[in-house]
Amino acid sequence: MKALYFDGTKPVYLEDYPKPAASEGHSLIKVLMSAVCNTDREVIKGYRPDFRGVLGHEFVGVVEASDDKSLIGKRVVGELNEGCGDCIYCNTNREKHCLTRKVIGMEGLDGTFGEYFVLANHLIHPIPDSLPTEKAIYTEPLAAALEIPDMLHIRPSTNVAVIGDGRLALMIAQVVALTGADLTIIGKNPDKLKNFESFAKTSHKDGDTYEIVIDACGHPSGIKTAKNIVRKRGTVVMKSTYAGTANIDLSWFVVNEVTIMGSRCGPFEPALKLLNMGLVNLPPIELWDLKDYEKALASDAFKVGFKF
Ligand SMILES: [Zn+2]
Ligand SMILES: [Zn+2]
Repeated sequence: MKALYFDGTKPVYLEDYPKPAASEGHSLIKVLMSAVCNTDREVIKGYRPDFRGVLGHEFVGVVEASDDKSLIGKRVVGELNEGCGDCIYCNTNREKHCLTRKVIGMEGLDGTFGEYFVLANHLIHPIPDSLPTEKAIYTEPLAAALEIPDMLHIRPSTNVAVIGDGRLALMIAQVVALTGADLTIIGKNPDKLKNFESFAKTSHKDGDTYEIVIDACGHPSGIKTAKNIVRKRGTVVMKSTYAGTANIDLSWFVVNEVTIMGSRCGPFEPALKLLNMGLVNLPPIELWDLKDYEKALASDAFKVGFKF
């Protein structure tokens, strides 16, 4: 089958990659569409140096074979992290933190930039018939945005800033806007900021401060910007993952009693619900053939993906 394989340094397009098979508790999924996430670009840059395998984790597919008969033929999305099923984290609803977890397209498991891949049944979520594939493709990143209100109480009376004007920021901002909170976007690109204008402020004045600051700019500078604008006793939510480290004075956070909260993948069912109800709206995905992966990875479209 066709697949985009990461060999440790670069992606390689293959047409003879072996087709996987369903196994106990795991379904064979035929990929309809798979989207490029910033994390994929970071894996290529060295964020997961030990990974070898098919890249990608955002997908919509159809279950072709499974020992869970209720899944066969269903159009589905799915979660990335497969835990061991029997540790303190797996047993306390924190499977994505399992110490020996595998992650599709990142750690130990082939991902979704191929015609087929295999996923644990319990990570699979059927898509409502009324939700088109082009919209359902946003489920995983939207779930990651929903992880913020899942972890942190955002009061409608709170003021919130989102640092970043890209894809993740747009999803987070729409989720925060649903709470009614006073929301400001701190971005650099006037064209991208237009996406936010209907529901958030896009201008920040020097000296403005915020109770909650969410870093979604995908760069080590985000935490520094956050430090400059978060209020004392406020909260900084960190959503960016990147290769490399940020150099920052942590004593400042101690003295000012600022909470730093990391936040990663989130709940899929609420994401499917918001997309299906039309409460979160995102620009259309730009689709490519897998063999044109170089052009896809170089594109500056809002979101790019592969059609199979
Ligand atoms: Zn992703
Ligand atoms: Zn575990």
